[in-house]
Amino acid sequence: MADITVIGSNMFELTTYVGRMPVQGETLEAPEFEMGFGGKGANQAIAAARLGSDVNFITMVGDDSFGQQQLDNYRENGIRPEGIGVGKGSSGVAPIFVDPTGDNRILIIKGANEQLTPAVLDEKIDLIKDSKLIVLQQEIALATNYHAIDLGLKYNVPVLLNPAPANDHLNIDYVSKVAFFTPNETELATLTGMPTGNLDEIQAAANHLIDLGVGNLIITLGSKGALWVTKGHAEIVPGKKVKAIDTTGAGDSFIGSFAHYYTQGEDVPTALQHANAYAAVTVTRRGTQKAYPTAAELAELQQ
Ligand code: ADP
Repeated sequence: MADITVIGSNMFELTTYVGRMPVQGETLEAPEFEMGFGGKGANQAIAAARLGSDVNFITMVGDDSFGQQQLDNYRENGIRPEGIGVGKGSSGVAPIFVDPTGDNRILIIKGANEQLTPAVLDEKIDLIKDSKLIVLQQEIALATNYHAIDLGLKYNVPVLLNPAPANDHLNIDYVSKVAFFTPNETELATLTGMPTGNLDEIQAAANHLIDLGVGNLIITLGSKGALWVTKGHAEIVPGKKVKAIDTTGAGDSFIGSFAHYYTQGEDVPTALQHANAYAAVTVTRRGTQKAYPTAAELAELQQ
């Protein structure tokens, strides 16, 4: 039995650091270029695996060299290979342009991620059945997520849905079926149509979802940590004070590490405390997956 089954996206990031953004029709030389592994599903799977969880990752890569590099990355990080499919055509890629002020422009080409259909989940049903937690995000088709939630209910496997990026077509009936729903403040506002500018407003929006039947609502609050809300109970689990230099992928490291600690048997507030600590380390380092520490590295940093 695996600890966690992550079902979601993978992306190959192609980041160009530009002196300035080119204007229409212009060709510019850029000083720096970097490639990296990303995609919300992949990031969360990698964070959990680096902490030592036994992770299935159900995803689709393309039959190109990027796909091959993704497969190598998952193998090197100890993710089980059974869930990963190789589809036809391009892998998911994200050309990213960053200017010296840190402003960015990002294109997402979903590529093989679009081949992660509900039917693929049916082929991988044994992996899904035999895990302690299913983890979902929103970079794949909503229909695939809905099917995953139904399978979780059918086989009694709790589901964590991280509604990122925000999608206002998300069916609220499905939200009420998950064990953990984990929006950030912006995603909570999109979903409820309610303001989330301060803690009172966040609490009111949270209560609205709790009344609809969400079991555990975990709202990430950036440097302030996370708010955990269940019926009749709300508790802030404070973030760690660190000097943040790059918060890209912080939310994914938080979710992946929470999934790890929770499936290792920690109670929710303790798992959230550990997830805050893990995500805090990642914001002190540049990059997404490459900022995620292993369990050994984390222990060393916390000495
Ligand atoms: P997202 O990246 O999805 O917008 P948040 O910004 O809320 O999510 O961050 C997710 C988690 O990462 C937070 O709950 C917190 O644990 C951690 N985190 C984010 N920014 C900081 C920061 N500046 N200092 C410490 N921890 C942070």
